[in-house]
This record gives sequence, structure tokens and C-alpha cells, in this order.
Amino acid sequence: GFESLTEKLSAAFKKLKNKGKLTPADIKEAMREVKLALLGADVNIKVVKEFVARVSERAVGIEVLESLTPAQQVIKIVNEELCQMMGGSVSKIKVSSSPPTIVMMTGLQGAGKTTQTGKLAGLYKKQNKRPLLVACDVYRPAAIKQLQVVGEQVGVPVFAGEQGESPVSIAKRAVEHAKRHGNDFVFLDTAGRLHIDEVLIEELKNIKQAVNPTEILLVVDAMTGQDAVNAAAAFNEAIGIDGILLTKMDGDTRGGAALSVKHVTGKPIKFIGVGEKLSDIEEFHPDRMASRILGMGDVLTLIEKAQESFDEKKAAELEQKIRRETFDLTDFLDQLRQFKSMGSMDQVLSMLPGVNASQLSNAKIDEGALAKTEAMILSMTDRERLHPEIINGSRKQRIAAGSGTRVEDINRMLKQFEQSKKMLKQFSSMGAKRRPGRRGF
Ligand code: GDP
Ligand code: MG
Repeated sequence: GFESLTEKLSAAFKKLKNKGKLTPADIKEAMREVKLALLGADVNIKVVKEFVARVSERAVGIEVLESLTPAQQVIKIVNEELCQMMGGSVSKIKVSSSPPTIVMMTGLQGAGKTTQTGKLAGLYKKQNKRPLLVACDVYRPAAIKQLQVVGEQVGVPVFAGEQGESPVSIAKRAVEHAKRHGNDFVFLDTAGRLHIDEVLIEELKNIKQAVNPTEILLVVDAMTGQDAVNAAAAFNEAIGIDGILLTKMDGDTRGGAALSVKHVTGKPIKFIGVGEKLSDIEEFHPDRMASRILGMGDVLTLIEKAQESFDEKKAAELEQKIRRETFDLTDFLDQLRQFKSMGSMDQVLSMLPGVNASQLSNAKIDEGALAKTEAMILSMTDRERLHPEIINGSRKQRIAAGSGTRVEDINRMLKQFEQSKKMLKQFSSMGAKRRPGRRGF
């Protein structure tokens, strides 16, 4: 993902780190590096120029404050401007005052429309809505089948047309069907083509005219960088879109699309697709993305994910413990178990500040290792779990014998515990969002 951009930006800021006062030359030099970093990430050149101009202007005016070093102030400005560049705040899907809310999904072939349509419907279903999926891509029989499979997986019904029925007619009948059956959200999965052409635009315009969608979302593939941005601009011009769903953010994207598309099209990113699984969709938070890009991790998304998959009370307790630094081995075990239920461990860890790719490969939790850890922790006394520092050589031998493991295993596990505690501590100080200047550096 954004590793390279993050690295280059932090290199640029590092040079400012020990300066008590920034000269115009310092700022100019740092901005030159920021510019190169953004261009290297495939951000639109016009966007980069405006961005650098704005940050420079603000940075030159900064005064020496007691609470923040000049470098921290520059980072704060960059953070705020990055966030602004991506739309500033969260943009939600509009909801119709006379249901159903009709969401028309558009995009080029392969962008991820069908998958994301299913993911979105699943998201609304989780919020106790009654979505309906509609197969308007009639040109490939496989497309209808694909939507049906996805629908089944998220537990949302799929409306498909008759043999030879036009997309316009299907869309209209689906909306009628939704009204009769009490479906409050209708998601239209439309056909795409490899390139934007008149046939595609004509069809989308016709569907739009026939059902008057509440929201037209454009699905674009983040991995295609500036092509995605250009496609978004073209779609917006031709049919008018309300927002963007940026897919494949889990892939090898340099970040250019995420950073430029709002600025170029004027339309906000509303959701991002972060994987092939149907749960891999997130609301787009410009502020969180900015801090992710700056290598500050994305603590809020992590906490939200945690809350989704384990119960809120537990998540709140964990957060409290981390903050009070009373995180012990029992919590560690609890956390390992819960992480397992949160899905991919690397995905979770990649949101933590300061975690890089090489650390990720070491962080995979396999079932066997979890069972072993469980056995070891269960073989400890309460006092040992609360105060792991008292576990000396003879205690280790006793625990190993009790859990059918070896002393090396105990040592490894304790080390893991310490590491995760350290990481969590970092994560909790980052979590203090309301004091932005105190983060990082
Ligand atoms: P459509 O032609 O626009 O309907 O695209 P599909 O929904 O069929 O998706 C095309 C391919 O992209 C499929 O293999 C999907 O699994 C994959 N895909 C879609 N969204 C994502 C995503 O967010 N991350 C990743 N890694 N793959 C995705
Ligand atoms: Mg499709």
C-alpha cells in the first residue's frame, strides 16, 4: 500500500525534527521532498502543486509554540491538508425520504462492481435494513450468477430479469418489487465495459432516467492510479455521480487515486474495498486515511473493527486496560482469541502505527500456536498472569510441564506478550485523537 509514500514523507520530516526554528529554506527543502513523495505515489500533478503551495504558506507562518516542535506543527499541517484533499470528513450515502433508497453502482468492467455491490448490501443488512440486489448486467450470464452467489453469501435477495429483458426494464421492475416487499434499499449492479464508450453511457443514462436513483456510486480500481481518476472524471461528466467507491485498496496501490480523485472530480470517496472477502469494505474516513499515510496508523478503524467483531463492552474494557497499562497475560490471551475472530491478523496489524511489512509476516497467528499459548497461560497461577515479571526459571519449568510445552516456548510467548504490550501502548497514545499534536515524532 502506502509504505513507500509514508517512508518518503517521514524522511522529509525527520530532517526538521531537531530544529528549534524553521527557516524558509528548511521548509522549502521539506516541501520539495513532500512534492516528490506525492508525485512518486502517482498523485495528480495539479493536486500536488496546490497541496504543496497551501502547506508551504501555512508552514512559513508557524510560530514557536510550547507544546509542539516546529516539525510537529508541519506534520500537523500536512495531516490536515491531506485530510482536506480527500474531502475532509466522511460522506455518507443519501437516504431517500420515500423508500426505497436506490443506489446505482457503475464502473468499468473488473473495477469490482459486483463484489462491492454485494458488500454494500451486506453492510446495510447488518444495520437491520432490508436491501435488494438487482442484476442489471445482462450481457454475461456469469454476471447474474456471480451476483446471486454474492447475494447468498451476505443473505440478501437478488432480483434478476427474464431472458432477454432490458436493464432498464429490470431496474424498473426491481424497484416496484422492492416497494411491494418492503425492501428499503435497492442496489443496482450495472454492466461495465473495458472503456467508457457511448453504448455504456447511453445505457447508464437510460437506467438513471427510468428509476431516478437516490445515489449513483462509481466503483473504481485504486490500483489503476491516475487512470482511475480519469475514468471518474469522465463518468462524472457523462452521467453525474454522487460518490466513489475505491476498490482494491489492499493491493499494491501507491495511493494516487485515493489522494487525487476528490480534488479532480469534486466527488467524495464514500467507501473503500480492502480485500476479496465480502466483509472487506470500510466507510472512507479522510482523517484516518491521512494519518495512515503519515504512518500514524489507523487506531480508530482498528477499534471500530474490534467493536464489530467482539462485543463492545469487551472492546471498551480492553481500551481502558491499555490506557491504564494494566494489560496482563489473561488480557493477552483474550486478545489473541478475539483477533482470531476479527479475520486476517495482518489486516488488523497493518492499521497499527509503526508496524511495517516485515513485522507483519512474523505476526501470523496459526491455530496450533494459539492453542499452545492458551495452554501455557492456563497453566499459570493468577499472580503469574497478573505479574508476568515474577515468572523465573523454576516457574517456567513448572508451567512448561503443566502445559506440555518447553521453556523456550514460554520464553517466546512472554516475549510476544511484551511486544504486543508495547505495541498496544503505542496504539493507545495514538488513540488520543483529540491531541493531534502529540502523535508521532
Ligand atoms: P465488476 O466487473 O466491476 O463487476 O468486478 P467484480 O466485482 O467481478 O470484481 C473483479 C475482481 O476484482 C474480482 O476478482 C474480485 O474478487 C476483485 N475485487 C473486487 N474488489 C476487490 C477489493 O477490494 N480487493 C481485492 N483485492 N480484490 C477485489
Ligand atoms: Mg460485474
